[in-house]
Amino acid sequence: MTAPTDNLRINGERLWDSLMEMAKIGPGLRGGNNRQTLTDADAEGRKLFEGWCEAAGLTMGVDKMGTMFMTRPGTDPAALPVYVGSHLDTQPTGGKFDGVLGVLSALEVVRSLNDLGIKTKHPIVVTNWANEEGARFAPAMLASGVFAGQLTLDYAYGRKDPEGKTYGEELKRIGWVGDEEVGARKMHAYLEYHIEQGPILEASEKQIGVVTHCQGLWWLEVTLTGKEAHTGSTPMAMRVNAGLAMSRIIEMVQAVAMENQPGAVGGVGQVFFTPNSRNVLPGKVVFTIDIRSPDQAKLDGMRARIEEEAPLIAAELGVGCSIEPVGHFDPVTFDPTLVARVRNAAERLGYSHMDIISGAGHDACWAAKVAPATMVMCPCVDGLSHNEDENITPQWASAGADVLLHAVLETAEIVG
Ligand SMILES: [Zn+2]
Repeated sequence: MTAPTDNLRINGERLWDSLMEMAKIGPGLRGGNNRQTLTDADAEGRKLFEGWCEAAGLTMGVDKMGTMFMTRPGTDPAALPVYVGSHLDTQPTGGKFDGVLGVLSALEVVRSLNDLGIKTKHPIVVTNWANEEGARFAPAMLASGVFAGQLTLDYAYGRKDPEGKTYGEELKRIGWVGDEEVGARKMHAYLEYHIEQGPILEASEKQIGVVTHCQGLWWLEVTLTGKEAHTGSTPMAMRVNAGLAMSRIIEMVQAVAMENQPGAVGGVGQVFFTPNSRNVLPGKVVFTIDIRSPDQAKLDGMRARIEEEAPLIAAELGVGCSIEPVGHFDPVTFDPTLVARVRNAAERLGYSHMDIISGAGHDACWAAKVAPATMVMCPCVDGLSHNEDENITPQWASAGADVLLHAVLETAEIVG
């Protein structure tokens, strides 16, 4: 097997032009994008992408979830394809790069190989996963979840948007119900290039994130029961203050996360006070604890600690406490061979790089259940994403795509 030479690069200008072309479809209000899944704008974006793929000589397959698979043949008919992709759908107030960078860089890899007349043993399949964002139809990563056997097609088809329209109906309406069974395809490997969506690479002045893990998470919904009482006339000693119990539990979550460094995080982002009135002590507080770690044992250990200590903290104040898990992902360890290929590619190309853990979920996290998988990341300005102000530079975009090109070529194996 020949390693790609260090002068092998994608066409950065063409990549950037394609990103800007795609961003014209489903424009947001402040310079970003609103191209939510299975909307007319999504259909229009798919058409544009399909046309580009056709022009690059790729053959399209579509599965029953609407995921697009665009194949560049390999020289060995028996060799399984290398899949490279991400998603073209966006948040309602999304940026131009989240997901789109990965799909269009995969296309740019193929375009560059065409320009250079490079053949590979394994086919390369440029992939646009349907409904990665989950903003319109929860949960996120719906199509890759079905592909990886984590969710069923029936479940996915029945997911409803806020207007009550189902995924199945809307997929049919925009004309993208494919004929392939979801998950029938077998992968030699899966690679995904994505913006970091966090501030670490930019702050560390690194061009490339070599992604070693995806964080696992638990969402724990806590219900505290105190006693509604007047905030003025109830003496301190006679209060059963569910709000105070919540604040002490949040401090405990902070301490548990700090004790599990490096890599663990924990916090509370959603709180409901009942009755939520200025001069009433809350009788009931419901809030969600979000804990994450790339390490399964640490993650489960954090959950166990919180479930043990929270009721004790509440009981000291006479407050009732119940905890229910409402969300979970296992941590993902990406394939060490592919991770090393990404790291070596960055090194060979002379790009600064560091190992990084993905704090967000990605289609690659599900793909990793069925194939060796990994990701490449580039910085984004101020770590901003899921925001119309999300931004990257053309240099960042093309550096990551160069790394993707090299990692894909090593995996798909250059012929000749
Ligand atoms: Zn994304």
